[in-house]
Amino acid sequence: MPLHIETPQIPSRPLSLLAGRSVWLKLDALQPPGSFKIRGVGLACEVHRRRGARRFVSSSGGNAGLAVAYAGRMLSIPVTVVVPETTSDRAKELLALEAAEVVVHGASWQEANELALSMIGASDAFLHPFDDPLLWQGHATMIDEVCQSGLKPDAIVLSVGGGGLLSGVAEGLHRNGWGQVPIVAVETEGAASLHQSMVAGRLVELQKITSIATSLGAKRVCERAFQWSSEHPIRSVVVSDRAALSACTRFLDDHRLLVEPACGASLALAYDKAAELEGFGTVLVIVCGGATATLGQIKQWSEG
Ligand SMILES: *Cc1c(COP(=O)(O)O)cnc(C)c1O
Repeated sequence: MPLHIETPQIPSRPLSLLAGRSVWLKLDALQPPGSFKIRGVGLACEVHRRRGARRFVSSSGGNAGLAVAYAGRMLSIPVTVVVPETTSDRAKELLALEAAEVVVHGASWQEANELALSMIGASDAFLHPFDDPLLWQGHATMIDEVCQSGLKPDAIVLSVGGGGLLSGVAEGLHRNGWGQVPIVAVETEGAASLHQSMVAGRLVELQKITSIATSLGAKRVCERAFQWSSEHPIRSVVVSDRAALSACTRFLDDHRLLVEPACGASLALAYDKAAELEGFGTVLVIVCGGATATLGQIKQWSEG
């Protein structure tokens, strides 16, 4: 049995009325560790365990680290997560709940990641948050489920951080013979590393991340994600933090699910009837979820 669950796919009446088209939701926010990440991370962890790994190491204080911690607990393999000093108490608390060892090191993710990499011994496995073919293979299972459901959307809307989700969804579409189904790739201002790269026609590294959607905060997308932009129809869209936050609040009222702004970014397209959805009769939004934002935090950001 895989570590992820098959998630519900539901039509959204409120979002369909607002967007003026049929909007369906793939509810990966309901994965046990709170985001789609367990699909890829779970598969990678199982493969590493089969190859003899005795410990999993991650440098993500976000949903990737949480997914590793969950997978380790389910597989009875110890997990160490190295996070920078900037990591919120909430994130550390969630990792501790999953019984992971949390090591706080360095002022930024770069330093935490360096320590994590230096700790990798012969029997340890390092789990990258987005740049690993095993992750994409696992993320692709969500598209297998969509295909089996019998619904064929005219477009798929998803959020982009480092591009692991995008690479997995594109892989899933192609392995199911749906290579013509366009992807609408959403980022927030200040975290738009895919958008900048697509405009420049080469892989661009952002100087810094200024968006509150920290789960989208990769300065550079993985090479595979950028490659997909020339191998698959992809519309790149950038929304404001404000739009993403507003979508989180409205989605909580409409569907009673609390998601991170990283996920709100995708939902904002439907809430704001974005022009980029023009021409699509039926769209499927990947509700990628995210466990690190509390209602208090969303309110605080919204007021700020
Ligand atoms: C990781 C994450 C993303 C972005 O996924 P990438 O694979 O980094 O592009 C989006 N939303 C949530 C909630 C995430 O945890």
